[in-house]
Amino acid sequence: MRIPIVAGNWKMYKTEEEAFALASDLKRRLKDVFGVKVILCPPFTSLFSVRKAMEGSSILLGAQNMHWEEKGAFTGEISPPMLLTAGCKYVILGHSERRMYFSETDEFVNAKLKSALKFGLSPIVCVGEKLDQREANKTEQVIERQMDGAFKGLDAQQAAATIVAYEPVWAIGTGKTATPGQANDVHLLIRKLLGSRFGKDCAERINILYGGSVKPENSGELLGMPEIDGALVGGASLDAESFEKIVMSAVRS
Ligand code: PEP
Repeated sequence: MRIPIVAGNWKMYKTEEEAFALASDLKRRLKDVFGVKVILCPPFTSLFSVRKAMEGSSILLGAQNMHWEEKGAFTGEISPPMLLTAGCKYVILGHSERRMYFSETDEFVNAKLKSALKFGLSPIVCVGEKLDQREANKTEQVIERQMDGAFKGLDAQQAAATIVAYEPVWAIGTGKTATPGQANDVHLLIRKLLGSRFGKDCAERINILYGGSVKPENSGELLGMPEIDGALVGGASLDAESFEKIVMSAVRS
C-alpha cells in the first residue's frame, strides 16, 4: 500500500520571512494529520528557515531543482550535498517550467536523477504533455519518451526509490485540470511503463502524483482515483488553508 504524498512546489514565491510564516502556519494546521506524507519545496533561499519552522513536525523538506555534479564551477547552481545539508530529503526534477524556460532535456533530467539517487535524495520526476501534443493524440508517445529518457540506465532498486509526478503542461497554473479519468489513464500508462522496464513489484511501489491546478475543490476526486497516489501542488500550496484542505483530502479512510 503506497502512502499518499502531497508536495507543495512554492516556485519563485515567498521571501525568507514569508516562507517561515507559511511553514509555521502549516506546521500548526497539520500537526495531527497522519497517513499522508507532506513535503514542502520552497525556493533555495528559504530552505533553512522552512526547516527551522518545521522542526518537531513530520513535514518533510524538498528542493525544486539541483545540479547533477557534487561541486564545481557552475555559477548559480546548487549541488546535491548542499541540499542535504539544508535538510532536504526530496528534490523535484524535470519540472515543465525547467524544461520550458531553462531548456532542460531528458538527458539533463537523467543525469540529475542518477545524481540525486547517488547522494540519497528522493527525486520527484515530472513528466507531462503539452496541449498540442494531447490534441494530436501524442500523450502516450511523449510520456514514454520522457520516462525512458529520465530513467535510462537505472536498475529496479533505483527506480523504486523515485516518485513520479504526472503534470500535463496545459494544466499547470492555468486553472484547467485534467479530469480524474484523464489523469488516472496516464498514471496507469506510467505504471505500465515502469512495470515493463523494472518489473511489476517495482512499479507497484512507486508513488505517482498528479499535478496541474490541484485545489481543494478538485483534490478529493483526483486523489480518490486508484492510480493517483498524491499531488504535486503549485499555486494552491502558497495558501495555508488551501494546502491544508488538499492534504486532508489525501488521507485515506
Ligand atoms: C506545479 O508547479 O507543479 C503545479 C502543478 O502548479 P499548479 O498547481 O499551480 O498548476
